[in-house]
Amino acid sequence: MTRQVTRQLLPADDMARLIALRRKLHMAPDLSGQETATAAQLLEFLHLTKPARVVPGLGGTGLALVYDSGRAGPRVMFRAELDALPIVEQTALDHASRVTGAAHLCGHDGHMAILAGLGLWIARNPPGSGQVVLLFQPAEETGAGARAVLADPQFDALRPDWAFALHNMPGLGLGHVAVAPGPASCASVGLRVRLTGREAHAAQPETGRSPAPVLAAIMDLLAPYMTPGPMGPHFGLATLCHMSLGQPAFGIAPASAEAWITLRGYDDAVLADLEARLCAGIAAAATGVRCDITRHDAFHASVNDPAAAEIVQAVQARLDLPTARFTFPMRPSEDFGAFSQVTRMALVFLGAGEAQPALHDPAYDFPDPLIAPGIALFAGITEQLLGV
Ligand SMILES: [Zn+2]
Ligand SMILES: [Zn+2]
Repeated sequence: MTRQVTRQLLPADDMARLIALRRKLHMAPDLSGQETATAAQLLEFLHLTKPARVVPGLGGTGLALVYDSGRAGPRVMFRAELDALPIVEQTALDHASRVTGAAHLCGHDGHMAILAGLGLWIARNPPGSGQVVLLFQPAEETGAGARAVLADPQFDALRPDWAFALHNMPGLGLGHVAVAPGPASCASVGLRVRLTGREAHAAQPETGRSPAPVLAAIMDLLAPYMTPGPMGPHFGLATLCHMSLGQPAFGIAPASAEAWITLRGYDDAVLADLEARLCAGIAAAATGVRCDITRHDAFHASVNDPAAAEIVQAVQARLDLPTARFTFPMRPSEDFGAFSQVTRMALVFLGAGEAQPALHDPAYDFPDPLIAPGIALFAGITEQLLGV
């Protein structure tokens, strides 16, 4: 029999501990792939919840905690991200980052506090069947972490039947929920184009091989995709992030150039098509110079399973959490998309307030009032799938 989840999930002193944990994590951010101290802090916090199994070093610096009912049933995974961003925080908060050049400006500190809160809740309300896995995943911001977790042999024993993650979303009403079946976040990839020709005297450029015309051709190829159109099944976007050519000297015709381009698409297929067409165009334009294109920071689209999205919607309705107006998928990519490849999953957006600075903005700080509804959503999903 499923018990009704209320918003007062945890005693006030637990909520105070979670807010203190969130702020402590905020003060001591770790960059992608270096989250050892953050993972250790979470393990220390959750030690008393007595997980059946602790899996440290997952996918490098990740951490998984397994709570086992001892009875057969599905394995349900909830994910939070461990990493912060290489940006200087510009807030005057008491709990502002103490690490120069690193800050939790995507709210992953809040997502971790929500998952820690779920751990406290599970300790008081053990699942009636199956297992719950709390996954603290490394390196989300670079797109490397989810894939590293999935490739880790330790993941085989953690492979979930269902996986859920939430991301706070500035611009949506505080505590409003957006979840839908199908694509939840776009696919993306970074292309680094390296062009190598031959230097020459600036007075005799025809004796060298300048990559400048190829850069110009790249600009032309990108132009139709540089202004985003409306979101839809054919949505594609190219962002020219960086370009360089030669060296700052008036006497030299250049030999080398680079272009860094981020491509984005409605889903993996749209992105693959855009990438193939662009790479073919660049290769065709690069006559007389060497052209090397490498792929970086590749993110799958996050595609919500219809049944998983329906479960979240049912819990949202039970909790009476308002629905946000949201156009799916969101343009930024999320490496939780890698889990779409292996399990039924849903990525849920939780409004962080209309006036909240955007994600990755130097003035952003995760709103603590989201911790309670975040825990309530995940606890409700646990009840729905595993009973208590
Ligand atoms: Zn981010
Ligand atoms: Zn994020």
